[in-house]
Amino acid sequence: MKAAVVRENGDGYVDVKDVKLRSLEHGEALVDVEYCGLCHTDLHVAAGDFGAVPGRIIGHEGVGIVSKIAPDVTSLKVGDRVSIAWFFSSCGHCEYCLTGRETLCRNVKNAGFTVDGAMAQQVIVDADYAVKVPAELDPVEATSLTCAGVTTYKALKVGHLKPGQWTEIVGAGGLGNVAIQYAKNVFGAHVVAVDGNHDKLKAAKDLGADLLINRHDPDVAKQIQEKVGGVHSSIVTAVTTAAFDQSVNALRPDGRLVAVALPQGDMNLNIGKTVLDGIQVAGSLVGTRQDLAETFQFGAEGKVHPIVQKVRLADINDVIDEMKNNSIVGRMVFDFTQE
Ligand SMILES: [Zn+2]
Ligand SMILES: [Zn+2]
Repeated sequence: MKAAVVRENGDGYVDVKDVKLRSLEHGEALVDVEYCGLCHTDLHVAAGDFGAVPGRIIGHEGVGIVSKIAPDVTSLKVGDRVSIAWFFSSCGHCEYCLTGRETLCRNVKNAGFTVDGAMAQQVIVDADYAVKVPAELDPVEATSLTCAGVTTYKALKVGHLKPGQWTEIVGAGGLGNVAIQYAKNVFGAHVVAVDGNHDKLKAAKDLGADLLINRHDPDVAKQIQEKVGGVHSSIVTAVTTAAFDQSVNALRPDGRLVAVALPQGDMNLNIGKTVLDGIQVAGSLVGTRQDLAETFQFGAEGKVHPIVQKVRLADINDVIDEMKNNSIVGRMVFDFTQE
């Protein structure tokens, strides 16, 4: 089968190769991939930023149809449509797994990094961890909900967002455009969208963002304080440390900063503001199986439509270049139904 694998030299690109999959073990299922989105996390994996993994099949925004199950599998059947997410599986019996915080398990496996991922014609999944995709949800859109969707839906939960409150979505790209829709259409909140790219801000407006601010303006936080009195929560999806610094200052008292993006380096946290305004800072990492099931259900109800575009696997390195240039609005999704 064809698969996109990390190069030996870890130069940030992948090779499309013929790969032979091993046979199924206990608890596993084989999935014929239909679609798989490409994410910045895949680019980090290909570049060895999380540790070198030459030969690894990338991809954690996969959707496909179960074509075979191990004899002991009861949670899936042949023909089910399932997702392949970054949160691939966990130990199932530690403190975090037992208390609804399974993404923090110290023995977590990640698709396309610690195990082979979904940027391939087929992928082996742990049946109990493969979340089903509702029939009403478009499978191409489901790829984006598998990563950007669940990550931002969970981040909005971590930010304790309530109806009528203001939230700032920093970065209106693949994550941000979905975050805006969950904030507006699911949480019933008002949205400030901040981005440096004109096209992404226009897309944010079309998705219902109430206030748009260019991040290159010198006084982003000041504008937000003046126009809406500061935000109740700020979801930072932009991969720059400056975005974090600015977001702290855009919060109103008792506001929450939710860190989602992973730029290298540290954020500046003004201690005075943090103490006197009771600021809270939280990290948020993807979401649990339950979070993903909820994420999908809202998609199936038509409340959220990620911006997606189908592309061919042969063009994957060109897409990687476009992502590095930050020139894509929404997500590029590789179409395996045509391979
Ligand atoms: Zn992703
Ligand atoms: Zn665990």
